[in-house]
Amino acid sequence: MPARTHTFKILRFDPANGEPPHHQVYTLAVLEGVTVLEALLRIQAEQDGTLAFRYACRGAVCGSCAMTINGQVGLACRTQVHGLGTETITVEPLPHLPVLKDLVVDVDPFLDKLSAVQPWLQPSEPEPEREHRVPPGQWAEAEPYTNCILCACCHSVCPAAERDPEYLGPAALAKHYRFLADLRDDADVPRLALVNDKHGVWGCDMVWNCVEICPRGVPPTRGIGKTRARIRRAERAQSAKSET
Ligand code: SF4
Repeated sequence: MPARTHTFKILRFDPANGEPPHHQVYTLAVLEGVTVLEALLRIQAEQDGTLAFRYACRGAVCGSCAMTINGQVGLACRTQVHGLGTETITVEPLPHLPVLKDLVVDVDPFLDKLSAVQPWLQPSEPEPEREHRVPPGQWAEAEPYTNCILCACCHSVCPAAERDPEYLGPAALAKHYRFLADLRDDADVPRLALVNDKHGVWGCDMVWNCVEICPRGVPPTRGIGKTRARIRRAERAQSAKSET
């Protein structure tokens, strides 16, 4: 198939020049199979070296190139230009995160939330000589939550994250459930306390946007629902204990 000429309307912002954010237009002939990331790399190399965007693996593994393409949040390395079906392609940074320059957002607030859920194994048993092994057949519950690549797409489509800057957000809460569901971890009580408030699992609107947008099939809303159920069970057990 011959190359098709597309117009790329890219949101530019550079805090160093004091100009408000504005769209800049570039024209590029693109062959079948070319991704938005490859188109951006060509625009940067051939037309405008000042265009800033983040990328690394080019294979949907690192999560670096998440952005808004034609109004839809996704990975630029996974989005083919012709597949979008439009002559003009609008490219903007991820919403709900501060923009550093052009398409590069500050992911520190997103990563801080991840750290807040203590994303590391906390077993009560002494360190084994080798790795902490999972008994056969007991990994299925935690496994879907291990596939997160920290792209922040879920965070960017989450109405609760937009409304409440302190809300932990879908990625952090999915990571939290990954450790709650890990049978080698023994920190359930403190872990549940970490997310048992309006900025934790009770802040979620349960609209499932995060599940629909996740490029890796991680189901944050499902994990949040299961965490809520565990909190309710623990509270019921506690109140039954105090009545006896
Ligand atoms: Fe990205 Fe999915 Fe992880 Fe959210 S849960 S950061 S959408 S990979």
